[in-house]
Amino acid sequence: MGTPEDSSLDELARRVSAARAATEARGETFYQGASRVHLAAFPPRERWDDWVELSSRAWPAREERHYMLVPTTCFNCESACGLLAYVDLATGQVRKFEGNPEHPGSRGRNCAKGPATINQVTDPDRILYPMKRSGPRGSGQWERVSWDEALDALAARIRAAITENRRNEIMVHLGRPGEDGYTERVLASWGVDGHNSHTNVCSSGGRTGFQFWMGIDRPSPDHAHARVIYLISAHLESGHYFNPHAQRITQARRNGAKVIVLDTRLSNTATHADYWLSPQPGSEAAINLAVANHLIQTRGYDREFVRRWWNWAEYLTARHPGTPVIFEAFEEILAGLYAEFTFGFAAAESGIDASVLAEVAAVVAGAGSRFACHSWRSAAAGNLGGWQVSRTLFLISALLGAVATEGGTFPNAWNKFVPRPIHVPPHPGVWQELSWPLEYPLAQNEMSFLLPHFLAEGRGRLDTYFIRVYNPVWTNPDGLSWMEVLCDEDKVGCFVALTPTWNESAWFADYVLPMGHGSERHDTHSYEQYDGQWVGFRQPVLRTARSRLGEPVTDTRQVNPGEVWEENEFWIELSWRIDPDGSLGIRQYHESRAHPGSKLTVDEYYGWMFANSVPGLPERAAAEGLSPLEWMRRYGAFEITRGQGAQHEQEVPAAELSDVSVTPLGRVYSAAPPVPDPNIVPAGAPPPDESGRRAAGVMVDGVARRGFPTPSGQLEFWSSTLAAWGWPEHALPGYIRSHVHPSRLAADQVVLLSTFRLPTQIHTRSANAKWLDELAHTNPVWIHPADAARFGVLRTGDLVRVETEIGYFVAKAWITEGIRPGVVACSHHMGRWRLDGGPRGAGGMMATVGLHHGDEGWRIEQRAPAGPYPSADPDSRRIWWNDTGVHQNLTFGVHPDPVSGMHCWHQAVRVRPAVPGDRHGDIAVDTGKARQVYRDWLALARPAGQVSPDGTRRPHWLMRPLKPAAAAFALPAGDHDLP
Ligand code: SF4
Repeated sequence: MGTPEDSSLDELARRVSAARAATEARGETFYQGASRVHLAAFPPRERWDDWVELSSRAWPAREERHYMLVPTTCFNCESACGLLAYVDLATGQVRKFEGNPEHPGSRGRNCAKGPATINQVTDPDRILYPMKRSGPRGSGQWERVSWDEALDALAARIRAAITENRRNEIMVHLGRPGEDGYTERVLASWGVDGHNSHTNVCSSGGRTGFQFWMGIDRPSPDHAHARVIYLISAHLESGHYFNPHAQRITQARRNGAKVIVLDTRLSNTATHADYWLSPQPGSEAAINLAVANHLIQTRGYDREFVRRWWNWAEYLTARHPGTPVIFEAFEEILAGLYAEFTFGFAAAESGIDASVLAEVAAVVAGAGSRFACHSWRSAAAGNLGGWQVSRTLFLISALLGAVATEGGTFPNAWNKFVPRPIHVPPHPGVWQELSWPLEYPLAQNEMSFLLPHFLAEGRGRLDTYFIRVYNPVWTNPDGLSWMEVLCDEDKVGCFVALTPTWNESAWFADYVLPMGHGSERHDTHSYEQYDGQWVGFRQPVLRTARSRLGEPVTDTRQVNPGEVWEENEFWIELSWRIDPDGSLGIRQYHESRAHPGSKLTVDEYYGWMFANSVPGLPERAAAEGLSPLEWMRRYGAFEITRGQGAQHEQEVPAAELSDVSVTPLGRVYSAAPPVPDPNIVPAGAPPPDESGRRAAGVMVDGVARRGFPTPSGQLEFWSSTLAAWGWPEHALPGYIRSHVHPSRLAADQVVLLSTFRLPTQIHTRSANAKWLDELAHTNPVWIHPADAARFGVLRTGDLVRVETEIGYFVAKAWITEGIRPGVVACSHHMGRWRLDGGPRGAGGMMATVGLHHGDEGWRIEQRAPAGPYPSADPDSRRIWWNDTGVHQNLTFGVHPDPVSGMHCWHQAVRVRPAVPGDRHGDIAVDTGKARQVYRDWLALARPAGQVSPDGTRRPHWLMRPLKPAAAAFALPAGDHDLP
């Protein structure tokens, strides 16, 4: 018998069918929306040139508004959902943003942050013109300059650094990347290894665990078809890629899937789970291993998958010499390897009852190959050894054979598509040790958060340092150490902030250059959101609208507010000014192909890309009489393929096999180049053999199959890389006790979870979105009632002082049973600030603060809270809140994981009632102590000079953004101590 919900859905479906029949009977198109009953009434795309809505303000009069609907891509998180800009044909301005039903990932849906793009576009506090510092750094004194002046000044500096062989003094530090690889290509064209990212304060821990298994660093769960969904994160509200994933998780739940969530907090995701596990932070890998052990001990694993795809033979050969290299021998060893990870052990580590863990393990065992899992930041980003959280999570998938199956988990590169650009410059020939230091040869990404310490101890200097949608003073741990080096012109010669909005770091910049929001710039995007591949197009919507109305636009500044630009055109122009006559070899990568000697335009750049490197798009466009670029400008996203399936099982085509050699363990090498398969993204480059032949596949039962881009070609249960590069004890999926393990806490310490996002904010960027600010503007400290009583905190709203190893912050308490006893939590999205006397920044979300430095270190206190203010937007006078939280990240020391390089965010803290004189938002930090914390964690590293097995800085096969040329991988002379 159906539920009441079922019958109402049936009724809905019946009505929608009737509406469809009636519409089609009139000879009109019935638009098939995204919901499962096709209720969603998106504007049919045939009418996007003149879509009519009635004005709500004019009601009851029927006043029509006519819109051109122009697609773009949301820029308010990494999900890259489709948006439709409603361009008012009467005013020529965007009136609102809604979902783009043509987008295969988001299918017309958005979270609150998507439509709030209109707030960012119309924000009265946004930066509209290039600005140059006119007083001392940090004084808040600025003057408006022309783009020409800024470009010429920067080009001269960069040209000098290149010609004087100071290439490592140029760095571009990205927060949210726009297009896959665009900035990397610009830097490669300059011959500079200057790409820096935020990834090691974000997702490196999660990526590392997947990379050592698959050679690909991200999972792509097929949630919609799963029987069991296992999330170590808050994926229904904020994880990667949460809106596209959340709608597919919801779809699976309706089909009976069970959802298991590991989250110490009662997140919105946890409230929707069938099983919510609130573990002691850092114990997640122990839980995963107990589940894995259950599968092993009960023989509940997919023996055939394990036999065919794990590198068990390599493991036996390396670690159990003398043991017959047969699968049964491996199974016997496997049964012993994880025997200690009983439910009792995991219960003791996690604090979750063993019977609950056993019940969860039984549910997982029932999933078979329909087990979808994800771990993104969360525990993998919080703990020393957090990368083993994702490595042990994938162990469960690999045991179940739920890899690249329907309802299972895919390597992300198979569900993503990166189109080839018109020009591809060669890899730079230099190595940037400020980002890729010798101490961290296996770091998943740049050691970005250590930059201030490296600069402070004289490892190098930066002549020209760009930040782009990145706010290092605010986002990173230890932000006051950042501020110290950013104020030092000997360490950072010229600091350039490419940003749409003022932020805590831009305050210290020499140039602040205004960049566009998601509807004001170009990028392409593709992300793993289901078993398929799509490419999405972000575009300046007014540029497209005007062009469609017959007003060609040649420069995005012509349509953006003020002199707001986009980065693609900016980088092309800057590159031309660095190399005006082409003598440096840079200009050629920014020149037109159609008109050699003239500047590449974004129309040609994307026109070439869509015409030449997106399979199927030219044909699809031609069917509508459009060029590929016109088609993408009209619809915004194109699905290339659906149902990628198990690419590792594909046989290697004969054309790719010549002069083949096969190792005793089955790795197939070939002298023939790969036949490009447009549907396979080359994610990694497994090492060649000694003769330089390419790793082409792996023998499985006598057949050469594509396998995985790992050194062995198989799923690497045992990592020869970890074993060879100094970490043999962690070469198998295992459990590393966190730096906040209870055994490491003093009796009066608790764990602070600081990593969780709020669903309606996005780091520092969304502070300029008034709707979002009204929804979420503060970050109280979650405290369990038992702890509150222990700490002497009487009621919600009382001030508490949270003491870290380098300082403290003062915040409001929120006493709640939604957090585990012994753990407190505070979101990192809040606590924005501005210094007195300078630009307002984001009036509704920034407190005005005073900043002092004395014998006891740094002090920040709030002088004026956020509140109503006059501006061009009348809503700014209606701000009713004044509590905008506290900037806790300033009080955290740096914690680089010695393997993944991930900053381990969790903190061991003491919480006590505020003392007299404490005020909400107070911060105290001793950067001397921060320096000592840096040294303590640095001592955990095993430098390449000591562990490199081959005289290189880093295994060449590991992924690396903007990989330098092979020669740059060699260890510097004198730094090579082969073991
Ligand atoms: S999930 Fe929300 S913020 Fe992220 S891209 Fe989609 S609409 Fe934008």
